[in-house]
Amino acid sequence: MRIVLLGPPGAGKGTQAGRLVDKRGIVQLSTGEMLRAAAAAGTPVGLKAKAVMDGGSLVSDEIVIGIVSERIDHKDCANGFILDGFPRTVAQAEALDALLAEKAMDLDCVVEIVVDESALLARIEHRARETEAAGGEVRKDDNPEAFKQRLVAYRKQTAPLSAYYADSGRLRTVDGMQSIEEVARQIDDALDKA
Ligand code: AMP
Repeated sequence: MRIVLLGPPGAGKGTQAGRLVDKRGIVQLSTGEMLRAAAAAGTPVGLKAKAVMDGGSLVSDEIVIGIVSERIDHKDCANGFILDGFPRTVAQAEALDALLAEKAMDLDCVVEIVVDESALLARIEHRARETEAAGGEVRKDDNPEAFKQRLVAYRKQTAPLSAYYADSGRLRTVDGMQSIEEVARQIDDALDKA
């Protein structure tokens, strides 16, 4: 299956994507993870993206589309993939459609995790505390200032994707304010009907 997961920062996309990987035998393609890995490795693309990411704004469509296009050609994507954090603009969604058409592939389902924005900052702070307690490195953009900017970017650039996918009949929504298990159940339901 080829799936897109939509939702604002802190909606639980990463958690749910990880579960789908185990359950459906597909790979998780998180553009945020790929960009953080590129930044940590000090590649030219990573270095270019790092300052933008740390401030909570979006990296250019060109960079991200290039990364995804290259990644989905890898063998491990043959059985399907779940895109987490991509597309994030209508231009990226159009590029994804074009890219998949070129490769004779289709998107099976777009799932939006709908959440109450007022709960998001608390979730991000919780994630940062948990990471710290586990001895991990807290993301540079998991702080109130960068988070505010990420939310602005989401509202302005990513929220219009719901209409983009709804117009083509591909959008399913789930209630992201429920427990992780219940959200997972709703996602499974949406995918089974796709
Ligand atoms: P995420 O891990 O999905 O929260 O992404 C972290 C950061 O990586 C974002 O705030 C952006 O700066 C950058 N990023 C990740 N995915 C994209 C994308 N599809 N388009 C543009 N920037 C992205």
